[in-house]
Amino acid sequence: MADEIDEPAPIIMHNFGNCCAELKDAMSGEEFEPLITVAEDGVLYMSVGLIDLEDEEDPGMVDHPLFYCPFCGTQLQTVDEVRAKTGGENGVDEDEA
Ligand SMILES: [Zn+2]
Repeated sequence: MADEIDEPAPIIMHNFGNCCAELKDAMSGEEFEPLITVAEDGVLYMSVGLIDLEDEEDPGMVDHPLFYCPFCGTQLQTVDEVRAKTGGENGVDEDEA
């Protein structure tokens, strides 16, 4: 690619972590690798496990959208919000009966 530009990291607009100090600390992770992170699509994800990847030595992280704060129970985002941001992908279960 000839015209590759050094773009600054995308600024992710979100309000996650405002509900309680526990979530804020868990997301900031200064002394550890946070398992609760905001992805580039603006969705808050929690890593729920590790998966072996065929072509990688290190296991990959399995992320799932986080809808409620695990510490204080505040609703952080809705299924519809996550679906709108991700286009309905990323492990959001289709709940159609
Ligand atoms: Zn909280």
